[in-house]
Amino acid sequence: MYDVAIIGGGPAGLSAALTLASTQGAKGWNPLHILVIDNQKSDLLKAELHNVPFLPKGISGKEALEKLSSQLLGYTNTQLTTDEVVKISGEKGSFCLEGAHQKYEAKYVIIATGAHGFSLQGTKAQAIPHTKMPREGMVALELQERNLIQEGIYAAGLLAGETTMFACASGSGVESACAILSDMQGKVTIIHDMPGSRA
Ligand SMILES: Cc1cc2nc3c(=O)[nH]c(=O)nc-3n(C[C@H](O)[C@H](O)[C@H](O)COP(=O)(O)OP(=O)(O)OC[C@H]3O[C@@H](n4cnc5c(N)ncnc54)[C@H](O)[C@@H]3O)c2cc1C
Repeated sequence: MYDVAIIGGGPAGLSAALTLASTQGAKGWNPLHILVIDNQKSDLLKAELHNVPFLPKGISGKEALEKLSSQLLGYTNTQLTTDEVVKISGEKGSFCLEGAHQKYEAKYVIIATGAHGFSLQGTKAQAIPHTKMPREGMVALELQERNLIQEGIYAAGLLAGETTMFACASGSGVESACAILSDMQGKVTIIHDMPGSRA
């Protein structure tokens, strides 16, 4: 059973995972176990980037995703897998995700599948037109505070209605991760470090 399963490995999903994975070695935390499930169709794979903070000018989107994945896998409590999730069942604490290849169990779920459509079955999510994208037909979800879809399930990135820029999607993933950490702890929670604070 994973603590958090993230569906979608674009900037939003990977950034959410990075925040959650960083519980490993953080003072006062038992490391959370994180799974990212992705079907390799991120919008970023078509991009060349000239405006993403800290990334070199002209880097390909593919290389940017590889860098982020490699940073994430520096935490050994994290796994990335290639699959397409089709259905979620269960409730907070015991979700089951049905992939085309296998099933996964997790206590919390983040859905960061981008804006091209929403066909995942089994949630209360309602798709609405995405109002911040220049292309017709893109979707977002109707959300409660802090990207919450329903108890234990959060959205992130373009699916959460963010502007289609790497940094916006990434920040949204981090927001969903912090919302989950806060829910787990029953109080507002973030992960900050200071020199020497890590185990
Ligand atoms: C041509 C182009 C150029 C761009 N240039 C820039 C730029 O210069 N600067 C900038 O800041 N931004 C740029 N962007 C925007 C940027 O790529 C997006 O804002 C960003 O990728 C959105 O991140 P996301 O994680 O929300 O969605 P995505 O990156 O689309 O990631 C969603 C992921 O979910 C996966 N997925 C979907 N459904 C499932 C499922 N059922 N199961 C498992 N996985 C699933 C997809 O395969 C994908 O990997 C560009 C986009 C395009 C298309």
